[in-house]
Amino acid sequence: MTPDGSIPAGDHLVRRTLTEEVLTPDHPPRTASAEFERNRSALLAAGHGCLVCGSKGSAEHPLEAHHWIEWSGWEHVDPAKMAAVLQRIDVYGYGAQLGAQPIQSPDDIRNLVLLCSSAPLQAQPVAGGHHRGVDMGIHMVTFPIWLLQLVVRDGVDVTAAIASVKAKDPAMAGPQPAGG
Ligand SMILES: [Zn+2]
Repeated sequence: MTPDGSIPAGDHLVRRTLTEEVLTPDHPPRTASAEFERNRSALLAAGHGCLVCGSKGSAEHPLEAHHWIEWSGWEHVDPAKMAAVLQRIDVYGYGAQLGAQPIQSPDDIRNLVLLCSSAPLQAQPVAGGHHRGVDMGIHMVTFPIWLLQLVVRDGVDVTAAIASVKAKDPAMAGPQPAGG
């Protein structure tokens, strides 16, 4: 969309409502592990930015480490399959480096990718950014749409501008993303 909320000539709006019904195994309450903090720090120290936009984050909106394979599904995971998959989804090279070395937990560095926690869309900051932001975060749009954001030409947005959508249709605003 353009800043005034209109749709550019040659584009059309596709609106989907996605409902997931996910069977999540029971699990004890979780807190960020020492392994998670160590690996997130290592990725930051290596100078990586948000995988989508390259942002290095800020004190107010730090980069977050997203788990490719979520903790919520860990009880059902075959660690050998996970190690194999993380040799194919291997944005930092740790999959190649560690090979089939067993995965002990989703906090393994092979399973983490840095994403921003705030990013602009049509000059409006979107809380949650490419991690949990409405209409842009990996938790909030389908994978093909999320991935498209990595490759569009500069100045092109692939999802509707949040501010103009809210102004036109409050029901579209949806739930606000949780932080973290
Ligand atoms: Zn980003």
